[in-house]
Amino acid sequence: MGGKFFADALVIGAGPAGLGTALALARHGVDVAVLEMQDRIGAKRRGETIRFDREMDALLGGGFFEKQTIRRINKRSYFSHTGLSRVDRTISNPNLIISWPDFIQAMAHTAEDAGARVLPASTVVGFIREEGRIAGVRAMVSGFMEEELKAKAVFSCGGCEDPSSRILGIDRTGMDMPISKQLVRGYTGPADRFEYHFHVHGDSLTIATIFPRAKGEAEIIFMGYARGRKPRTISFEEFIQAHRVFGERIKGTTPFYSLKTTIPMGRMISMCCPEDRLVMAGDVLGHVQSRGGSGIRTSFLMGYTAGRLGAGALQSGAWTAETTKKLEQSIQGSPPMRDLYRHNLIYSTLRAGIFGLIHEPKQMDRLWPLLRVALR
Ligand SMILES: Cc1cc2nc3c(=O)[nH]c(=O)nc-3n(C[C@H](O)[C@H](O)[C@H](O)COP(=O)(O)OP(=O)(O)OC[C@H]3O[C@@H](n4cnc5c(N)ncnc54)[C@H](O)[C@@H]3O)c2cc1C
Repeated sequence: MGGKFFADALVIGAGPAGLGTALALARHGVDVAVLEMQDRIGAKRRGETIRFDREMDALLGGGFFEKQTIRRINKRSYFSHTGLSRVDRTISNPNLIISWPDFIQAMAHTAEDAGARVLPASTVVGFIREEGRIAGVRAMVSGFMEEELKAKAVFSCGGCEDPSSRILGIDRTGMDMPISKQLVRGYTGPADRFEYHFHVHGDSLTIATIFPRAKGEAEIIFMGYARGRKPRTISFEEFIQAHRVFGERIKGTTPFYSLKTTIPMGRMISMCCPEDRLVMAGDVLGHVQSRGGSGIRTSFLMGYTAGRLGAGALQSGAWTAETTKKLEQSIQGSPPMRDLYRHNLIYSTLRAGIFGLIHEPKQMDRLWPLLRVALR
């Protein structure tokens, strides 16, 4: 079966951006289907901490965050490379610990209740074009053979793995950083705070974090920032050897979930609508979490905005180059995008500026009075 009209709008990816997009499209009367490559929605975990956001909570029906919260944590401790400097913070809007699969599935149900179709085991492999313009996707739907699914518009929200980057030849160099995550049991370190441990090695900076969860579980994140052309990487095992406090904290824990992936912390793609009838939102665009730990919220709100404004474009009649131009301008001028650019400018520039000055461990202690201002 080929070339059948499948939906007015197709969304690639059931993450926060794709589900936010689908929810807005469905609420604005657009027939929308979400294609998700995983067999089970939310099976491949990403972030599991979020801070309450009134707008996102209201869009998801109110009380959504409360239902998804496993526990609240409002303390953070940062340790310099040598462990000689430390700063403790208490934040007013606490971090909420969530379960990614439950959170994403609940979001998918909200989108379905609004009328969206969410199809797991459906992988997009290419776009179809008619008269040079995007007219749908090629996808393996529900694990079956490849099909051509026609639509009036495609919303590409596949995160770092998004197929549009590959198909359109978008260069992601300097955008996606390696990150690994473990969920462990048997954590006996401080349960009331997030911990951040820094490692400096020439042109590379590595951060290992511990986010306690419930019942002795914790999330361990290990992330490297490459600053130079030839960053030196450190393995998790070497990090444990080099950082006594971190090593002690995770001693005796047993991993029950492990993931190696990338996170776009490097830079952003400036276009949300790179072609007529194609809109991108979320991690696919690059650096969407300027403040760190805000990617879920930002991706969802960007997606919702893209869906809301995209619905208007779809309902305006024929989608011309002028429609694309107007849509691009309205997405770029929307509050989530303006907030993101403003925060990127402030936080990323500040962090990059300070971290750019640090090339060996003791330098970090010397600059700690300056650095601690940026560590919130
Ligand atoms: C280890 C880790 C920890 C993080 N911690 C936090 C945190 O604590 N708090 C926070 O706010 N943010 C955190 N983030 C960032 C946050 O998870 C992301 O910013 C957010 O998930 C981006 O949403 P998205 O919808 O754009 O992409 P994703 O969540 O990546 O969703 C994209 C979806 O598209 C699907 N997909 C990809 N390609 C295809 C295809 N060809 N066909 C069909 N489907 C496809 C994928 O399977 C996936 O489900 C973390 C990220 C990582 C990797």
